[in-house]
Amino acid sequence: MTITRIEITHHQLELDPPFPASWDPQPRRKFPATVVRVHDDEGRMGVGSGDSMAGFQDYADLFVGRDPLDLDRHAAVLDNIAFHAGRPWPLDVALWDLAGRIRGQPVWRMLGGASNRVRPYASCGVLRSAQGSVRQAERALELGFAALKLRFGRPEMPDDLAVLEAVRSAVGDRLELMVDCNQGWRMPWDTARPWSFEKALEVARELEALDVYWMEEPLHRGDYDGMQRLNAETPLRIAGGEMTRERYEFQVLLERECLDVFQPDVVCSLGMSGLRDLALEVHRRGRIFSPHTWGNGIGLLANLHLTAGTVGAPFLELPWDPPEWTAERRDFVLAHPVAPDAEGWLTLSDAPGLEIELDEERLAATESQRTTYR
Ligand SMILES: [Mg+2]
Repeated sequence: MTITRIEITHHQLELDPPFPASWDPQPRRKFPATVVRVHDDEGRMGVGSGDSMAGFQDYADLFVGRDPLDLDRHAAVLDNIAFHAGRPWPLDVALWDLAGRIRGQPVWRMLGGASNRVRPYASCGVLRSAQGSVRQAERALELGFAALKLRFGRPEMPDDLAVLEAVRSAVGDRLELMVDCNQGWRMPWDTARPWSFEKALEVARELEALDVYWMEEPLHRGDYDGMQRLNAETPLRIAGGEMTRERYEFQVLLERECLDVFQPDVVCSLGMSGLRDLALEVHRRGRIFSPHTWGNGIGLLANLHLTAGTVGAPFLELPWDPPEWTAERRDFVLAHPVAPDAEGWLTLSDAPGLEIELDEERLAATESQRTTYR
């Protein structure tokens, strides 16, 4: 059994009307997706997606002709490539999908089989008026969500706080509320400085009073001193690490007790086995593992299998903010959008692999040379 071919295609979904993501100063007119397919000599295929795979083709020969089930070896090579060129982890996801199909097992079982379900939280992306956010929170409640994440990022902090206050007073304790400050990283065209420790602490005090479940990315991803001090000074849970790349960086975050909630994304960092090991260590240290999933439905499924199969999470991110961000837009590469059940849970089946079913017609119609949001 050998890998015969790695196929990489790029796609862009037109967004009309555009999606005004709170963390991006440019409204998004396109939603890019790169799909990675890995084929074996028995006609099976595994699928991954998440990063643009820029520069990867120079290394594809390191996998072709190899045993697809040699997952640890492939992860070690991908870790080296991740140092030299981009974030090649969508291939790791595709290899796990293929391995699941070869073994006739779902990936959540291959990763430990702890559970086949996780409760999602509604992860909003648009900066709305107080009234608009209250309406959105009520809609989330109707759909069975137990938690909702709001974004900060309006020009004036009192406006962010006013929205959070309005939502809290409307929903009371019926919804857990998270706040994403989005200070960990920036889009290429955004030169705004991240918050200082003093600013983050000032905001934390306000969030404490509003009983926020976690405060996400209050500081730059490398501000270890700031995160350590903030976490020591506020009873709030501090979340972060969504774009952190290296295992040793997560180790520093763990050992310095910078974070309570670790949010690596399996399509961006370390792959399935790397994040399975990290999840176990995070759990052992009494912290929460709750991956970032803001991408398309393939990444969402991959992170869902990872979380359910290993240590679980109180809540897993489900990008949701209609009408600007819908399941149809998010999961356009899939034949069926990922959807929580009536009780508000995301449940996986016993189907082999990652349960990915591509919408081939849609993929053909959206094929593109570009991998950008423009
Ligand atoms: Mg985030």
